[in-house]
Amino acid sequence: MATPPEFPSETATVLDEVVERVRPTAERGEVATYIPTLAGIDPGHFALSVSALDGSTHACGDADVLFSVQSITKIFALTLAVQVTEDHLWERVGREPSGDPFNSLVQLEHERGIPRNPMINSGAIVVADILLDKCDDARATLLELMSELSGAEVGIDEEVLRSESETGTRNRALANLMASFGNLHHPVEQVLGNYFHQSSIMMTARQLSRAIGFLANDGVDPASGKRVLSASGARRVTAVMLTCGTYDAAGEFAFSVGLPCKSGVGGGIVAVVPDQMGICVWSPPLDHAGNSLAGRKALEQLTTELELSIF
Ligand code: GLU
Repeated sequence: MATPPEFPSETATVLDEVVERVRPTAERGEVATYIPTLAGIDPGHFALSVSALDGSTHACGDADVLFSVQSITKIFALTLAVQVTEDHLWERVGREPSGDPFNSLVQLEHERGIPRNPMINSGAIVVADILLDKCDDARATLLELMSELSGAEVGIDEEVLRSESETGTRNRALANLMASFGNLHHPVEQVLGNYFHQSSIMMTARQLSRAIGFLANDGVDPASGKRVLSASGARRVTAVMLTCGTYDAAGEFAFSVGLPCKSGVGGGIVAVVPDQMGICVWSPPLDHAGNSLAGRKALEQLTTELELSIF
């Protein structure tokens, strides 16, 4: 396999400087505690990883430390759903931002059990239901996709899976409300088992920045050359990331970061720079919207300094 080109040193210097500048911001955030296992994360972790489409990479800090991917996995679950059944998918989940917290019930009843989008918990639960329909083994198929795209053997943290399942009262409320409107085709506990399994996947920032490269490359995995989605499918997934991927801070991210992003309560955020690179930043302390506080600040500064905004 050809040796990837060197990552541009002047860009690497900017990334290293951004990391040093924004790390202290994390002290103003709080790690997620509603999933007990996540409460024990060291808030001092910080990672930034960039994977360019030409194969060159740059990583800072804890870029090779595994962390709970949580809702970042929703991108890959949505990708699988678009691969297997796109038309049916959008009959059961929308693509509008919710403007509410990621686990809000408020709009579901008014909108007859149809979630606003697949990036919030209710939408991801419907996607988990669809994957049970369309994949012989939904859990294994998702792990296989994420392993292929990251170039690593991706697995889960059984402790996070147990912890989230034991405390998933709000997600059970979401799932039961959607089931009452007929928008779940499998038993609630089976669907939630698939959803909690997705949430407990563990990856590193380096693996994630590589794994999302196909979304920066018109649906083609830059490492293998394999088509994962059609160019149109990839554009649609990144559109939903931009408008919905960071919950009720999506407007702020579009304004201050300017890239399609997806966050997770484990403190990770991934960002797609079309035709250039995938980025992952990880800092566990979160802001009020459930997004990494220092992670957003790092993305804001690096997109400004490197002029990466899509606008
Ligand atoms: N598994 C988490 C939940 O269901 C995902 C939330 C997130 O990462 O944004 O609440």
